[in-house]
Amino acid sequence: EALIRLEQVAKAYAGQDAPLPAVRGVSLEIARGDIFGIIGKSGAGKSTLLRLINLLERPDSGRVIVDGRDLTALSKRALRTARQSLGMIFQQFNLLQNVTVFENVAFPLRVHRTLRGEALAARVRECLDIVGLADKSASYSAQLSGGQKQRVAIARALASQPAVLLCDEPTSALDTETTRAILDVLRDINRRLSVTVVIVTHELSVVRALCRHVAVMEDGSVVEQARIDGHQLAL
Ligand code: ADP
Ligand code: ADP
Repeated sequence: EALIRLEQVAKAYAGQDAPLPAVRGVSLEIARGDIFGIIGKSGAGKSTLLRLINLLERPDSGRVIVDGRDLTALSKRALRTARQSLGMIFQQFNLLQNVTVFENVAFPLRVHRTLRGEALAARVRECLDIVGLADKSASYSAQLSGGQKQRVAIARALASQPAVLLCDEPTSALDTETTRAILDVLRDINRRLSVTVVIVTHELSVVRALCRHVAVMEDGSVVEQARIDGHQLAL
């Protein structure tokens, strides 16, 4: 059984005259434990598709089924809870600027009142440990490199112990060496924590290095899907 199933999901944005379709009836299955890449040119609809998986964008039609539950059918409150199993990271990291690394990672736990006190601190330390930033707990994001910022964002996404990590161009703001290190972290999270990883990228090298399956998007549609064997793209 697929962990994520999209059924004929469509999304258009408001245009000047007519709606502009960004995703046109995409159906897709992502298996539990997979590292799944979504690749394609700028404007192909990759980011919209990713945001449809956690309902950051609400589909105009179609169903989004995660772990057997149709997210499009949930109440606001139930959706808020379901979303905690879908962590997300971004190209520009989206960290809180004026608080410490610790508080950035603690933020979702405080918002959702998941944990407090020592249990919260222990969870935060654990997540910082996973991304190799245990020693940066008291730093502010302005003091961090791009790679370190993305590690903090990953730790924050992991704080709620998600089943899925949605990654939107997570290495596009990073140099080659830092990219490699972040891909190592994502691979490690997939292997050790059994987190299913979905990654949007325009870089074929990222898909090659990391993914086991890939979908190619063009003009709002998935035009090709492939399994990647032994780091060889077999399209
Ligand atoms: P990609 O991630 O592949 O670059 P996007 O999903 O960001 O593609 O965009 C797909 C299409 O939807 C593009 O034409 C883009 O301009 C448009 N689009 C994306 N986000 C919005 C938005 N918030 N409002 C209006 N149009 C948008
Ligand atoms: P609560 O809202 O549950 O009272 P607190 O703000 O008191 O939470 O902090 C919870 C725990 O996190 C405490 O044990 C505190 O010492 C620890 N903590 C807070 N900030 C940091 C930090 N920058 N580094 C390490 N531990 C921290």
